[in-house]
Amino acid sequence: MSEVDWAGAGESRQKIMSHVGRIHETDDGQLAESACDFCEEHGLEDCSVYTPATRASFFSSNEGYGCGRCRKLGQACSLQQQHQHAPKRRKTVASLEAIIDQQDMVIARLKRRLASARAQLQQQQHQQEEESEFEGFGDYE
Ligand SMILES: [Zn+2]
Ligand SMILES: [Zn+2]
Repeated sequence: MSEVDWAGAGESRQKIMSHVGRIHETDDGQLAESACDFCEEHGLEDCSVYTPATRASFFSSNEGYGCGRCRKLGQACSLQQQHQHAPKRRKTVASLEAIIDQQDMVIARLKRRLASARAQLQQQQHQQEEESEFEGFGDYE
């Protein structure tokens, strides 16, 4: 692809082409254990996908499985579709749980802070009351 074509391609197209380039031209890609439906139907044996390590570090758990050829053609890849049945909901629940855990920790921390601020305030009020009582006695004498 010339530079002009590259610039003219939409951003998503550029993204796709950089995925394709990485899968086919760098160590981030490898031959798929078994070719996807499309590649198999067309007798194309060089069906390539991201290595598990690359996929794990760049994609969420059920993404990044598609082969380079299907990406390039802009079509759904059977290797990706295999991973899109149930996991989606599990992933959402898991990520929500993670968020809730995090929020729980934040809330617990805030509660501790609030409790110590309250204790401090009570102590101060107590001291002030004691002081004003003394002042009060002073006035009456
Ligand atoms: Zn393929
Ligand atoms: Zn494919």
